[in-house]
Amino acid sequence: MIEKAIELLKAGEIVALPTETVYGLAGDAGNDTAVAKIYAAKGRPSFNPLIVHVYDFAAAEKIGVFSKAAKKFAKKYWPGPLTIVVPKRDKKFAALATAGLDTIAIRVPAHPIMREVLKSGLMLAAPSANISGKLTPTEAKHVAENFPHIYIVEGGKCEVGLESTVITFDEHDNVIVLREGVLQIEDVRGRSRASHQPAERCSIGGPGGPHGEHKKIISPGQLLKHYAPKNPIRINADSPQPNETFIGFGNMKCDFNLSERGSLIEAAANLFSMLHAADALNKPIAVAPIPNEEVGAAINDRLTRSSHK
Ligand code: AMP
Ligand code: MG
Repeated sequence: MIEKAIELLKAGEIVALPTETVYGLAGDAGNDTAVAKIYAAKGRPSFNPLIVHVYDFAAAEKIGVFSKAAKKFAKKYWPGPLTIVVPKRDKKFAALATAGLDTIAIRVPAHPIMREVLKSGLMLAAPSANISGKLTPTEAKHVAENFPHIYIVEGGKCEVGLESTVITFDEHDNVIVLREGVLQIEDVRGRSRASHQPAERCSIGGPGGPHGEHKKIISPGQLLKHYAPKNPIRINADSPQPNETFIGFGNMKCDFNLSERGSLIEAAANLFSMLHAADALNKPIAVAPIPNEEVGAAINDRLTRSSHK
């Protein structure tokens, strides 16, 4: 079952896998088309950056740049339900999984099945295996109800059933909690937050702790700045003005084509890398109309937000 999952994932397909938190809908993070399939299957109305799951710290260091403090947390809590957001080593890597950002959220999970898959060298984006807005899946049968046609590796009930804690570090290398989760982070006064699994207490505030004095806790998602191009964007453009870089969709003349054959999955896969490439030309950007259906809705959401800066 695990071999079959690895084979499918390496071929760019998506599969459902158990993790210690919830069942994840997994795809090769480095393959933008595979990640586009995750978004299409989940029906998410917007592109949020996803967590990239890797086998161990050595693998994490291949894709992320770890500060001293980030490394300490990784060494202490991995494998486990802690996600660490760090600068990307290669800005072009996992453009869709990171939603165009220069940072990447990385986790080394503890679940034996997930670990077996990751041991193959795969790096997997794996958001919860449910249709957007539906209940979070902690059993394989929940996944099957949502996705009857997707290959599922049965791994029993997920132990935790809660999402991972997401942290990052500020310019002084102090830890910042981006999302509360199963791993407890103590605040500066030693008061515990998100109290679910005492055994997993993430104690960083005590004497001798690396940064207890300066640790910040902010509301989840607060620090997540979405990627937006530097140049103005005009959407639903049938043709470009003479000074504009034109991003097309379907069979048309343009500077970059999201998908000549009009595939929304292909367009989603190309979106962030083409926005970056067009933005680098330092001219206003015009984008052809994208059908507002299926994953096209998430594409239009990102383009609309970028156009209202
Ligand atoms: P999931 O949907 O379970 O993969 O959860 C992803 C979580 O990680 C969300 O809370 C995201 O906001 C957060 N996240 C992922 N990448 C980043 C990033 N580069 N910067 C900040 N937060 C991130
Ligand atoms: Mg979810």
